[in-house]
Amino acid sequence: MIHAGSIALVYCLHGDEILGKDIARRIKKEFPEIEILEGNPRAIKNKKRFMKKDLNRIFPGKIDGDYEEKLAHDLKRRLKRFDYVIDIHTTTTVSEPFLIMTKKTAGIKELVDAFPLKDVVFMNDDIAKSKALIDHVKCGVSVEFTKGITLDSAYETIKETIENICSKKKVEEKRYYEIIKIIEKAKDLDFISGIRNFELIGKDTVIAQSRDVVLISKEEFYPVFYGQKSFFGFLCMKARLIEGDIYDC
Ligand SMILES: [Zn+2]
Repeated sequence: MIHAGSIALVYCLHGDEILGKDIARRIKKEFPEIEILEGNPRAIKNKKRFMKKDLNRIFPGKIDGDYEEKLAHDLKRRLKRFDYVIDIHTTTTVSEPFLIMTKKTAGIKELVDAFPLKDVVFMNDDIAKSKALIDHVKCGVSVEFTKGITLDSAYETIKETIENICSKKKVEEKRYYEIIKIIEKAKDLDFISGIRNFELIGKDTVIAQSRDVVLISKEEFYPVFYGQKSFFGFLCMKARLIEGDIYDC
């Protein structure tokens, strides 16, 4: 039996993703032994993603850096002793909630398998640059709660995950996607309403448009974070489905 005291929950690395704060509050009542860490207090107070630098793009941080660099350094230090780290995010895109992982270790597999979620996105070093929190803990994944999710449903997902970690229960059915690249878009281009995250887009499909310009897919791919509002100049991430075993272990 794994003890819940070996699990840490991090919320609001991005200060405007406040659903995580409400989830964390309820989780703390249910599992008092779990460590709960708030990501970016000043950004939460100011209702912003970050103050000066995106906290989840600057790990491991700096002891004598600016506000966010110091936060990253401190979070890394405080998370050192935990076996599992769950990092809660929200996105403005539409899909089922999904997971993000950046390493393919046995521990990550255990953690991913504990989530009652199907879609798992692997970001390699070319994309993630090893600057996210989950790159700097023993074993961490990020969960992205999507547009329209209720607090009850998000809370149940995390609660069930913690119970599964502790009892080593696996939720086997998973679909793994690997991010190939980030597709940018000019700011006057609009999203296309029929495009769904994690649903295959064919070659030569219109993926963004303005009155006189269209952006066409050059090959088939799965979109991830399509429709995201907070990334300027960003259309989506382009992913492929991974067949077979993804893990190194
Ligand atoms: Zn986030």
